[in-house]
Amino acid sequence: MSLPVIPIDRKRVVAPRITRLTQPFWNALAEGQFRVTQCHSCGKLSFPPRAFCRHCWSRDTGWLTVSGKGRLYSQTRIHALPELFAGEPAPLHVGIVDLEEGVRVALPIHGDAPGLDVPMELVVLQFHDGPLFAARSVAG
Ligand SMILES: [Zn+2]
Repeated sequence: MSLPVIPIDRKRVVAPRITRLTQPFWNALAEGQFRVTQCHSCGKLSFPPRAFCRHCWSRDTGWLTVSGKGRLYSQTRIHALPELFAGEPAPLHVGIVDLEEGVRVALPIHGDAPGLDVPMELVVLQFHDGPLFAARSVAG
């Protein structure tokens, strides 16, 4: 299953710093998949991607593609943007989504979210120079 893709008619204000660790994540996102790291020792998930498990410190980890479905845990609007984000439209709407697989992701929120605990879905924001991820309310 592929995440919804929303075209954004500009370049990213801040492009992600892609490392050897995060390259598979960004490659998957460009193909509409959202991946988290999963520990092969204890099974727990981590995001952002990590080279070791933050629960049991095992280095035996791999990638898991998640559904992109979850619920809104928290949200806020940032009216005074840091200088780095000066090119972003203000206010910047950000939140935390608990994915149904049991991992928490901090991200921008696309559009309005009617309230906490509402169903959310991850989306790919396709900018001119590459993708970023966000979440939107399933209710619209
Ligand atoms: Zn572990």
